[in-house]
Amino acid sequence: THFGFSEVPLSEKQGLVDNVFHKVARRYDIMNDLMSGGMHRLWKDVFVGKVNTRSQAGFRHLDVAGGTGDIAFRVAQKAGSDAKIVVLDINGDMLEVGRDRARERGLDDRVEFVQANAESLPFPDNHFDAYTIAFGIRNVPRIQVGLNEAFRVLKPGGRFLCLEFSQVAVPGLDKIYEAYSFNVIPAVGKLVAGDAEPYRYLVESIQKFPRADDFEGMIRKAGFRRTGFERLTGGVVAIHSGWKP
Ligand code: SAM
Repeated sequence: THFGFSEVPLSEKQGLVDNVFHKVARRYDIMNDLMSGGMHRLWKDVFVGKVNTRSQAGFRHLDVAGGTGDIAFRVAQKAGSDAKIVVLDINGDMLEVGRDRARERGLDDRVEFVQANAESLPFPDNHFDAYTIAFGIRNVPRIQVGLNEAFRVLKPGGRFLCLEFSQVAVPGLDKIYEAYSFNVIPAVGKLVAGDAEPYRYLVESIQKFPRADDFEGMIRKAGFRRTGFERLTGGVVAIHSGWKP
């Protein structure tokens, strides 16, 4: 409510999100380092540590809202060379940066980039061994639809993993975190990307995201079982997971 983005109707939300990432695509990676003080690298390492790539030959991985490829490259590093990894994102500008980075890393034959919406995945049912989404689900206008799609494309026995900002559960840290979010983040955004507005949206979308236990309920509603979540850094982020039975 701080900046009025909450008033945006559902049908217009995706357009707003797309504008944000269109504007910041080329500076996205440096912004992540600046705004999280490098913490996002650590969170992503812990997150990808949970992906069991050794489960079988021909491992198929889908990273949704994969942007510039941070998660996919980490998965590629630990998976066998026969693994197939797909980065899916709605934004062509983010994917373009991802493709360039994959080429630089010599990973372009193992990582495929697909432009599509998390709410309507262009893959058959029961197709992937694992589905990841990092700092992406809160951008999807209809979260439940996105989760239902994740469930559909996973094979039975497939794993769902989501890394997202959460609620700071440590007294004192919550106040610091809020002050940081609403003051520092938009200011750095203005300095580096030349525009504070996309980052105001970002902070607000974090605040509006469902609480960890409610979000787990949505994951269960999609059909996942053995669900759970783990908070990192005092609850600044959380990793949610579940299996398709
Ligand atoms: N996963 C990457 C990471 O952790 O660095 C990128 C996260 S970035 C904060 C959010 C991404 O979600 C953007 O690249 C954006 O284009 C993408 N996105 C937003 N809405 C989407 C949708 N409906 N379907 C797929 N991707 C979407």
